[in-house]
Amino acid sequence: MSYFRGKTALVTGAAGGIGAAIVKQLRAEGVRVAVADRDVAGVDAEAHLPGDLLDASYADSLSAAAFAALGGLDILVNNAGVITRGSVANTTDADWALSLGVNVEAPFRVCRGAIPIMADRGGGAIVNVSSCWGVRPGPNHAVYCMTKAAVASLTQCMGMDHAHQNIRVNAVCPNEVNTPMLRTGFIKRGFDPDTAVAELGKTVPIGRIAEPEDIAAVVLFLASDAARYMCGSLVEVNGGKPVG
Ligand code: NAD
Repeated sequence: MSYFRGKTALVTGAAGGIGAAIVKQLRAEGVRVAVADRDVAGVDAEAHLPGDLLDASYADSLSAAAFAALGGLDILVNNAGVITRGSVANTTDADWALSLGVNVEAPFRVCRGAIPIMADRGGGAIVNVSSCWGVRPGPNHAVYCMTKAAVASLTQCMGMDHAHQNIRVNAVCPNEVNTPMLRTGFIKRGFDPDTAVAELGKTVPIGRIAEPEDIAAVVLFLASDAARYMCGSLVEVNGGKPVG
């Protein structure tokens, strides 16, 4: 994809399963990448911007920091996320604050920082990582589903509001992906993660759950010029297994 030559990107959650795959694929296309996560020491990239997205001043200044470090900001991927389980009745105040803070407020703040920078430079592409549960909720993850629906809605709103500035905002909505987020969930519930991933794979028409690279490939498509007419789209990536 020659589109990516000379481009610059900021990726949040870059040390996680999907984030690391996105960073790797962007860099393989020649993109210079700034990586953000709580600890990015082990992530190969052109700029390292560690921090806690719950810190409003860090999230507010992240896009400007990436722009300063890379000399550009063409692509922003809001990928960092946390999952809390349970119904509303067993969601704590701490779960609520964490989920809203990382999954909704942080992408809002990082986008708010990126949009004027991209607009000044003639445009850009923002890709948010929502979830299939942001499109149609699943059971016993009420607040997580709500946060992913909020990101989906913000994506649709920003897609409309910033298309005239040549800023395209879209989201990927994965179903189950083989990452630490999914695997630690299995471990917490007493399952062997390899067995659980294999069993879950049998429920997916394509025969396996997604690997992080499957999601990263769609993120790169949405960030590229191949998606030049897509604004505010929610792209489900589910191996033929939609929720609901
Ligand atoms: P992951 O846990 O491997 O990665 C998430 C990353 O976000 C981690 O590296 C973590 O350190 C970072 N992060 C969390 N809180 C942070 C904070 N306060 N400050 C800075 N960084 C923080 O999980 P993943 O599966 O790679 O998830 C990536 C995205 O994909 C998330 O938004 C998640 O909701 C979404 N998603 C995952 C799945 C799945 O099945 N794994 C399905 C649908 C959507």
